[in-house]
Amino acid sequence: MTKLRTTIVLTSGLAILAGAMFLHLAPAMIDKSQNRVVSHAPYIISEQARALHKSMIIGDLHADALLWKRNLAHEGDYGHVDFPKLRQGNIAIQVFPTVTKSPKGQNYEENSANSDNISLLAKIQLWPYRTWNSLAERALYQASRLHRYETRNPDAIKVIRTSQDLARVLEARAAGTPTLAALLSFEGAHALEGNIESIQRFYKAGFRLMELHHFFDNQLGGSLHGQSREGLTPLGREMVAKMEIQGIIIDVAHSSEAVVRDVLELVERPIIVSHTGMKGHCDTPRNISDDLMRKVAESGGLVGIGFWDGAICDISPEGIVSALRYAINELGVDHVALGSDWDGTTTVSVEASEIAILTETMLRKGFSEEEIHKVMGGNLANFLLRALPSESDQLAAADEAD
Ligand SMILES: [Zn+2]
Repeated sequence: MTKLRTTIVLTSGLAILAGAMFLHLAPAMIDKSQNRVVSHAPYIISEQARALHKSMIIGDLHADALLWKRNLAHEGDYGHVDFPKLRQGNIAIQVFPTVTKSPKGQNYEENSANSDNISLLAKIQLWPYRTWNSLAERALYQASRLHRYETRNPDAIKVIRTSQDLARVLEARAAGTPTLAALLSFEGAHALEGNIESIQRFYKAGFRLMELHHFFDNQLGGSLHGQSREGLTPLGREMVAKMEIQGIIIDVAHSSEAVVRDVLELVERPIIVSHTGMKGHCDTPRNISDDLMRKVAESGGLVGIGFWDGAICDISPEGIVSALRYAINELGVDHVALGSDWDGTTTVSVEASEIAILTETMLRKGFSEEEIHKVMGGNLANFLLRALPSESDQLAAADEAD
């Protein structure tokens, strides 16, 4: 081998090695830097709070854990959610949205739909090639990860598709098997790629909750952080109607106020705002008006209060609890739930294993046990038991599709 060839071989070898090292280390580095927990002394939970926490159904409406290259079956030393952490927190129900597109320079004021960070993330994390250019495939791939965990750990996790699925998980938990009820959602109906027929495809893949928007306007209408601030488009109206017929719960977190109003007029069933704060409590462009939130509640809807600064301004456990108190006062105790936005490129003070601190703090602040039960997950369980399709609906939908 000539000297020159040796140099070329060595240099390309080193470049390949550096590339491999980068692909090995970068996903964890990005994940760690994006999903932080503020450092704090271990939380002290009283015996009373511990006993109450253990007796409750705990649930959360929004954790983006499927976006990251992390083995959720093992307890990690970073990130906010994995199955062991959820178990330590006695969490019974967790909604897992799938994120498919997020604009460069993402902010709460105004984003165009012309750029996308998830394309790069998909490549760095070595997602399958089919996900590189398809938002639908990105959502389906993340869903398949959840299904794989379910297949490998059937006692630990059940992806719930019907109200009976949830009822069975809750019965099993009451009998001592701590199965997690996991619910699939997507963060932005751009994952449908403008194709109304694909609602059925996602339904078959287990999706039972659909969030219409993320940070930019899409085919269905305006985002709260987009450019038009418009309501539902004609296609958006058709899609929302179709979701409702299909038995899919609609989530308007991140939608423009005009879209929220249009949806409320259009649908018959209650809707969700999965992760948010209350504008009157924390006046940021991430939150919609209290008036509109009251309309969501009056329709029988459920509002998940987030754990991050853009939603609640103060992310300490006391800050979360003060946001929950405000929401209860404005919306009524039956309409308030938890919507952490764990792993949603957020910094929080409470990750999944630490959630008993909210029970502790609410007790200290004089919440009644009934209020704590409802907000920590009782409301979410009741909402889902009513809103999820029943097994007979499921059979009817399958017949229709055949
Ligand atoms: Zn979000």
